[in-house]
Amino acid sequence: MALKVYNTLNRKKEEFVPIKDNHVNFYVCGPTVYDYFHIGNARPLIMFDVFRRYLEYRGYDVNYIVNITDIDDKIINRAEKEGVNFKVIARKFTDAFFDGAKKLGVMPATVHPRATDNIDGMLELVKKLIDKSHAYEVDGNVYFDISSFPGYGKLSGRDIEQMQSGARINVDERKNNPLDFALWKSAKPGEPSWDSPWGPGRPGWHIECSVMSMKHGNKTLDIHAGGQDLIFPHHENEIAQSEAANGVPFSKYWLHNGFLDIEGEKMSKSLGNFLTVKDILTKYDPIVIRIFFLLKHYRSPIDFSEERIKEAKAALDRLRNAYHKIEYVLNAADAEFTHDENSDNQIEAYKKGIEDAMDDDFNTARAMGHFFDIAKGINSLDEHDKNAFSYINAAKQIFDTLGTKVFGLTFDTQKKTDDLSNDLMNIIIEIRQNARAEKNWGLADLVRNRLQEIGIVLEDHTGGTSWKYI
Ligand code: AMP
Ligand code: ZN
Repeated sequence: MALKVYNTLNRKKEEFVPIKDNHVNFYVCGPTVYDYFHIGNARPLIMFDVFRRYLEYRGYDVNYIVNITDIDDKIINRAEKEGVNFKVIARKFTDAFFDGAKKLGVMPATVHPRATDNIDGMLELVKKLIDKSHAYEVDGNVYFDISSFPGYGKLSGRDIEQMQSGARINVDERKNNPLDFALWKSAKPGEPSWDSPWGPGRPGWHIECSVMSMKHGNKTLDIHAGGQDLIFPHHENEIAQSEAANGVPFSKYWLHNGFLDIEGEKMSKSLGNFLTVKDILTKYDPIVIRIFFLLKHYRSPIDFSEERIKEAKAALDRLRNAYHKIEYVLNAADAEFTHDENSDNQIEAYKKGIEDAMDDDFNTARAMGHFFDIAKGINSLDEHDKNAFSYINAAKQIFDTLGTKVFGLTFDTQKKTDDLSNDLMNIIIEIRQNARAEKNWGLADLVRNRLQEIGIVLEDHTGGTSWKYI
């Protein structure tokens, strides 16, 4: 089956065919580094990381670009509030972004360009747009003239006339048209600025992404992606200014992820339900966060709640327990397992299910369903059955390739045994011994069974009881 993706530009699923051979220029709008990134921001970060990995798994040569917006009004405001240079704020939250991304198992992009390293390119593009009469200067600001670009509105499907009438309030008098947007903003006294033909100022947000994607990708990208909130105005404006300058389509495919809510409400600081990834990771295994997102199709809305996270954790535990069993059986087997036809057929069958799901607009939710089927199969296997090896070997291949390399999940049994877990286990073993001494078999069995569920076995010897991970 060929890979199909939902293209926001044409509002339908289309076969994915890169512009040139098997090379894919894939640009994702990265974070504006003015605060710790939140759980909503983690969605595009994780999902597009999985798409990139899947494209690579499919044999594409992916040039994956995720920018850092390190100059912006929000950064300037925060720096002003804290009385520091804007670079201090940008550096702190860029570092926090990379740290969080790494913990979430997100692969570094091929390149992470920063806006402030690309000011020259932005000046050039703004000049070009003025020369081509697509932009005009007023008091040190440069605006894009949307009436000069007939395709304006094509990505968001918005009606320009309607938008104009809706935008009459708070119109900046200096603009010809209320929808014209800033390519270059003049600096107020004390604000960070760069020299330009129009006086000291800084770039607008939209021009940053156009320049960075053209520099590191191409004039026409294969994929441009981001959250749904970016469709308008950010991506619409990127298209207008890039296509007006270059005369070629800006991106062949546009992918947008749906929004994350918290317990059914929009996440916002004012509602007090704002969750940063940094805080969440003090409470949850990052891979639980990853699987939480994978369990939902990327274009659907997703709701974050304790309940959903518990479900995600239970889902991951099911897969990990199955993987423990796989390793346990393979380790216990005397001889190294050699391939047989059954195993190869089984691998192909598993692979096909997962690949078909991913080829259908990256349906990770359906792909995860196949992993659970495999886990169910593993858990109900009689490990002494010789034929079970084919199945177990096939499952291991799938977990190690698609599960780990594409979905970025970790299943391994290398749980760390630290002093605390040893001390706690000794207490649990003592409780069980006391229960047995009191002939409280119900409690003794409960302890053993519950431990087994989390992958720990107790072994009774004459001298006492020891424990180990399955
Ligand atoms: P920002 O730093 O606000 O530009 O956001 C970075 C990325 O996160 C963009 O692709 C946004 O569309 C995306 N994003 C922001 N909030 C959410 C949310 N609540 N749910 C899903 N994606 C979001
Ligand atoms: Zn962008």
